[in-house]
Amino acid sequence: MEGLARAWVEVLESLVVAAGEPGAGGLTPSDVGLVEVTQGEIEVLESAYPGLVDVLPLSPLQEGLHFHALDEDASSDAYTVQIVLDLEGDFDATAMRRAAEALLSRHAGLRAGFVHEGLDAPVQVITAGARLPWSEQDLADLAPEARDAAVARVLDEDRARRFDPAAPPLLRFTAIRLDDHHHRLVLTYDHLLLDGWSTAVLVRELFALYASGSDTAALPRVTPFRDHLEWLSRQDRAAAETAWREALAGLDEPTLLASSHDTADDAAPEQIRTELTAELTEAVSARARALGITLNTVVQGCWGLVLARLTGRDDVVFGATVSGRPADLPGIEDMVGLFINTLPVRVRVRPGDSLSGLFAAVQDEQARLMPHQHVRLADVQRLAGHGELFDSIAVFENYPIDALDLGSADGRLRVTGVDGGDTTHYPLTLIAVPGDRLQLRLGHRPGVVDRDRAERILAALLSVLDAVVADPDRPVGRIDLLPPAERDRVLVDWNDTAAPVPAGTLADAFRQQAARTPDSVAVTFRGTGLSYAELDERSNRLARLLIGRGAAPEQFVAVALPRSADLLVAVLAVLKSGAAYLPVDPGYPAERIEFLLRDAAPVLVLTTAEVAGGLPGTGTPHLLLDGEDITAELDSLPADAPTDADRVAPLRPANPAYVIYTSGSTGRPKGVVVSHESVVALAAWAATEIGPERLSRVLFATSLNFDVSVFEVFGPLLSGGSVEVVRDVLALTEAPYDTWSGSLISAVPSALDQLLAHGGLGVRADLVVLAGEALPARLMDDIRRTMPGTRVANIYGPTEATVYSTAWFSGDGSADGTPPIGRPITNRRVYVLDAGLRPVPPGVTGELYIAGPGLARGYLGRAGLSAGRFVADPFGVAGGRMYRTGDVVRWSVGGELEYLGRADDQVKVRGFRIELGEIESVVGACPGVGRVAVVVREDQPGSRQIVAYVVPVGGPVDG
Ligand code: AMP
Ligand code: MG
Repeated sequence: MEGLARAWVEVLESLVVAAGEPGAGGLTPSDVGLVEVTQGEIEVLESAYPGLVDVLPLSPLQEGLHFHALDEDASSDAYTVQIVLDLEGDFDATAMRRAAEALLSRHAGLRAGFVHEGLDAPVQVITAGARLPWSEQDLADLAPEARDAAVARVLDEDRARRFDPAAPPLLRFTAIRLDDHHHRLVLTYDHLLLDGWSTAVLVRELFALYASGSDTAALPRVTPFRDHLEWLSRQDRAAAETAWREALAGLDEPTLLASSHDTADDAAPEQIRTELTAELTEAVSARARALGITLNTVVQGCWGLVLARLTGRDDVVFGATVSGRPADLPGIEDMVGLFINTLPVRVRVRPGDSLSGLFAAVQDEQARLMPHQHVRLADVQRLAGHGELFDSIAVFENYPIDALDLGSADGRLRVTGVDGGDTTHYPLTLIAVPGDRLQLRLGHRPGVVDRDRAERILAALLSVLDAVVADPDRPVGRIDLLPPAERDRVLVDWNDTAAPVPAGTLADAFRQQAARTPDSVAVTFRGTGLSYAELDERSNRLARLLIGRGAAPEQFVAVALPRSADLLVAVLAVLKSGAAYLPVDPGYPAERIEFLLRDAAPVLVLTTAEVAGGLPGTGTPHLLLDGEDITAELDSLPADAPTDADRVAPLRPANPAYVIYTSGSTGRPKGVVVSHESVVALAAWAATEIGPERLSRVLFATSLNFDVSVFEVFGPLLSGGSVEVVRDVLALTEAPYDTWSGSLISAVPSALDQLLAHGGLGVRADLVVLAGEALPARLMDDIRRTMPGTRVANIYGPTEATVYSTAWFSGDGSADGTPPIGRPITNRRVYVLDAGLRPVPPGVTGELYIAGPGLARGYLGRAGLSAGRFVADPFGVAGGRMYRTGDVVRWSVGGELEYLGRADDQVKVRGFRIELGEIESVVGACPGVGRVAVVVREDQPGSRQIVAYVVPVGGPVDG
């Protein structure tokens, strides 16, 4: 009997779930109440329904379902429910049919038809007599296999036959004979009629009637569904609306697991399940008792916590199905109809609150809302003003199964199995079934939540339940939802990137490379080139000159030069002098350049006469590389490499190699200081993972002010390749580059997009490295089409972690859709953490943190800011740091990172990293501007623009 009861529970609970389909009926709140119909309307109804005895309104969920049922596209099985009973023993089909007919005459609600045409609002009509649809199938003559197939066919066909809501009765029975002692009894009905609890009542009565020869005297007096509808009409709608409005006030956004990143999928819903041990079940129940809360509350609170972690929010909503059977209605337990309702449960998770405090808050809130559970979900959603509020539900099953006493009185017919019911329509449906062992089932739509993710979610729920038992006073922020093996996987296994890094400075590394390949071409510009030996010698001379002018380790030298081979001579010379270079793109606005020069206070600016003319006067000395005196001075200096003996101070790998400025939220850009060793390590990664072949001819098209240029220059120069300097990628669309072919092009996606948009050029490369902003799937398709055979890398990295931190190469994995940003590169570790700095499991969004030796030293002269973004790494060696990127990502099950967006309002426009707050503070400082909001608009796909909205001082202008 225990097994059968369980089977029943499964069928019944699934009904609840199906009924929980979010409804969006067309009625206004004031329509709920007993119906007002005119005499004329009644006459029309009477002619359509001879024997009309009553006209009733619809219950809240009936309204929702009826609205959906009118939708032609709705799949038939969403509302047609089939319950199959396995019967063993003597089966008297005639007696069963009579019992079923008796049910139909007992319960007026079973004879309801639903009418809406010509009416303001749908009504249910009840007729006095309705013939029970009953059919019999005899399959006893078939061989066992053929019989199974035949049964399946009968059931499928039955299930597919949708009811017409306007044609009562909306239920039917089918009796299938398998052999003399085995039958199946199939009850099929439209969900508009019944909820799961009612089904339990009906089946119990059916068997009682069968046993008693359809003697209704032994059954309880029927309380009609009409009484419930009357009860509904007496409820205070205004009070309920106020209660719900208050309950959902201040909710920032709905809790939706399905996002635009998920592929739509119509695959059939699946379910996984687990059962707590009897000991754990008892321990959880004991805790609940001690805390004075119900097991239902425990489940809801724990689910809220899991949802919060899944979505990275601290204020979440999910649906809960309520029985809708008010205690103050006599006879309510035995009533038949559609009572249930699905309503939101809101859980606020403050990391410092205890679990028990969270449960108490949930219970209080639910108790307060209890009298208001009669409101339609559609109305509650309207009050909250967010549209669909949730897409997961938690069901706490509480059917009166004890009351189920099936089988004939003399024991000659027994129910041995029950099957059927309906399936979940939500991406996630949690069903908790109380008992000696608490059972948890998780229904999931595989297109949104795949099996692997569902299993992790269920495991997370179990972790919370463990915590309930272990210590209900623990702050919720300290509960770990990740099992140890999982934790190891994301923290250790997927970060197994340690690799040896060559010792020494960038200057050493380049000198060694020049010694290995002195005659190879190191750099070309407009057809002329410099060999490694030439580049080495020229930069040695300039380095010596710079040392003489004050360049030294921990100092900066600004490089403000047009793009040519000399640019590389200058960069190398600065590094060899021991100083770090401060790139100053001559095309930048004067104000920006002035800020850089004042903030970094370089010892001098390396520039040309022409560029110098446009530079703001900051008092920083200019060194004109094209000045005749300088040329002469350079010629007089030794061509061998300066050593520490020549330098002002010894150069160490930890000294800065460059400082690159990025936008800042306070209106002040910040300089990211990166050391020699970090660049050497990046180049070592490039040499091994990209390889000398693909680094043999690299386009250098990126401004020195973007750190991607560091890769474009030092990737090839430290592995014997050559660098081809161009103005920018679009230069390839002009003469002399009608065609260009090389080994590697690197660009921000929007720049490559533009290049391809200029169409049909013969640009060829073995590898296209895209970095700096999200790589859209559309661009991937364009590249595949226009540059067949080219491999694409989607590489991710903030300047603060030395150019690149994670990489994905096409051909490595799934090719469709938005490419991931891949895995950590050598010597990088990446963590996806929640707000409490706990690692999240795959599939869960979190913020990306980067650790390992490649981190920048910090922001120049901004110790406080640095301390806020470069924080202690709790997972690495003591004293290690990790950088908080502000990027929102998630792990795929296979260990690749998917980029989802930003946690703040930093944006990327054409590769420029921009804090909208910086622009707001500048616009806000303009005279007459009161308030300002700055956003990025993409009115045309691919064309992102920054737009400022301002309110003048003194408020909006009239008219
Ligand atoms: P930057 O410091 O200029 O390199 O900018 C770093 C930021 O650019 C990151 O924090 C991301 O927001 C974004 N970013 C860089 N590479 C990618 C990429 N491959 N996909 C998506 N966003 C990226
Ligand atoms: Mg970057």
